[in-house]
Amino acid sequence: WTGGTLEEAENSLRELAALAETAGSEVLDGIVQRRLKPDPATFLGSGKAKELRDIVAATGADTVVVDSELAPSQRRGLEDVVKVKVIDRTGLILDIFAQHAKSKEGKAQVELAQLEYMLPRLRGWGESLSRQAGGRAAAGEGIGSRGPGETKIELDRRRIRTRMAKLRREIAAMKPARETKRLNRRRNSVPSVAIAGYTNAGKSSLLNRLTDAGVLVENALFATLDPTVRRAQTPDGIGYTLSDTVGFVRSLPTQLVEAFRSTLEEVADSDLILHVVDASHPDPEGQIRAVRQVFADIDAQNIPEIIVLNKVDAADPFVVERLKQRERNVVVVSARTGEGMDELRQRISDSIPRPETVLDLLVP
Ligand code: GDP
Repeated sequence: WTGGTLEEAENSLRELAALAETAGSEVLDGIVQRRLKPDPATFLGSGKAKELRDIVAATGADTVVVDSELAPSQRRGLEDVVKVKVIDRTGLILDIFAQHAKSKEGKAQVELAQLEYMLPRLRGWGESLSRQAGGRAAAGEGIGSRGPGETKIELDRRRIRTRMAKLRREIAAMKPARETKRLNRRRNSVPSVAIAGYTNAGKSSLLNRLTDAGVLVENALFATLDPTVRRAQTPDGIGYTLSDTVGFVRSLPTQLVEAFRSTLEEVADSDLILHVVDASHPDPEGQIRAVRQVFADIDAQNIPEIIVLNKVDAADPFVVERLKQRERNVVVVSARTGEGMDELRQRISDSIPRPETVLDLLVP
């Protein structure tokens, strides 16, 4: 890693390990390295890359996951040293999204994001074989075998672009149905509340508490991919819709922000955001920052926000106190024990627009 503190790097690495486990991998070992600048050839630099090669050999690992976004050439350079598959954070996250997408639209969007990610990373067989055989063929690198390799890559690229265009058309065709639904909700002036927050923060549990909906709760990152919209009521009987959205992660790949834009529009379009934060997490402030970054990306930064500080039953009281002081509009709850839920219901009630006021505006 090249910026931030060691603690931040370790938190990020711990999250990466959790992500890899969510994807079904067993995590064997980890190393942290500090550099001023990533090495252009191998990302880690040749000394550290060799150290990693020894770790790979000793543990029998079949994959290396790097907690950064690698340039295609860095990934190849590192693979050539460690001799096993190298994937970066983005590749891993895309993989998990692919495993978890349920709806037709969600699946199409993930596939589109994967293809977009893959396009600049294609590697022809000719090229890779000549590199391995010739070692440092330097300037003449792969020239002999470049012909067939390049042709194959070009063909693959064209196929991928065609597929991407088709997916984009399909996604565009699915959009009107959702938009109609959303417009109908608007027309009926039902206020909408979006639950957003870091993955595993307790969004589904909170949705269940607020609606008794019986949504699946899983202790896995990304249990939620497609938005779920439910009806709920304030204590004084005002109906509103509550939508649970995709779980955020640190440095959500840009391909996914793009791909999930329409899903995230649920957030951008809501009257109120319940920003759920796991108070028992080692780095809740980092999570808040990461989520707000996504809010900014989707133009949702000006929507009223309640910070729902969840899992207070498991959190350090000192951390809870600190967050209460640093953030405005905090409600402390436990979706597990129900603590703080009455206050949250009241706060939602105070924060959503009243249907009457909307009607007043419409009547001349
Ligand atoms: P989501 O990914 O944000 O939708 O999170 P979930 O609602 O699926 O919850 C993730 C995990 O945190 C599950 O194992 C929940 O049981 C657990 N969890 C949720 N709320 C609380 C809480 O208030 N206290 C504790 N201790 N655990 C919670």
